[in-house]
Amino acid sequence: MMDVRVGYGFDIHRFVEGKPLRLGGIDVDHERGFEGHSDGDILLHALADALLGAAGLGDIGEHFPDTDPRFEGAASSELAAHLVRIVTDRGWTIGNADLTVVMEKPRLTPMKERIRRNVAALLGLDERRVNLKAKTHEGLDAVGKGEAAEAHVVVLLTREEEEE
Ligand code: MG
Repeated sequence: MMDVRVGYGFDIHRFVEGKPLRLGGIDVDHERGFEGHSDGDILLHALADALLGAAGLGDIGEHFPDTDPRFEGAASSELAAHLVRIVTDRGWTIGNADLTVVMEKPRLTPMKERIRRNVAALLGLDERRVNLKAKTHEGLDAVGKGEAAEAHVVVLLTREEEEE
């Protein structure tokens, strides 16, 4: 029997002046970046939580506490790669990832393919198994006013069920 698990992750960060913008592990040319202890990469943080959720391993805060100075300014792609290893070491195969970014500015369209390909590489997946959707918040609330951006990610994990 195949064990099939779905995981969901969410993240939101404020924009701040004077910080580079990194999204899905890609540096984006923009005047503001994400506030946070790490690079604030909302997409990889949501991805990390989706992986952990599917594997039943808690959340990103338990694995990388933001009070821990070792993770100050940490590249989220390294954290995500570490979690991919944790999950695959436990016998899980990643089936696909479906990612959504909710952001007013900058527009995601010009960098969408680069981000999608980078996330696929990070997950060790064929590019066709990674989907990236770009939404705005229609001018509503903090995300709509461009004060913050958020990401939502769903991943599927499968593994051969162990014999009882
Ligand atoms: Mg975060």
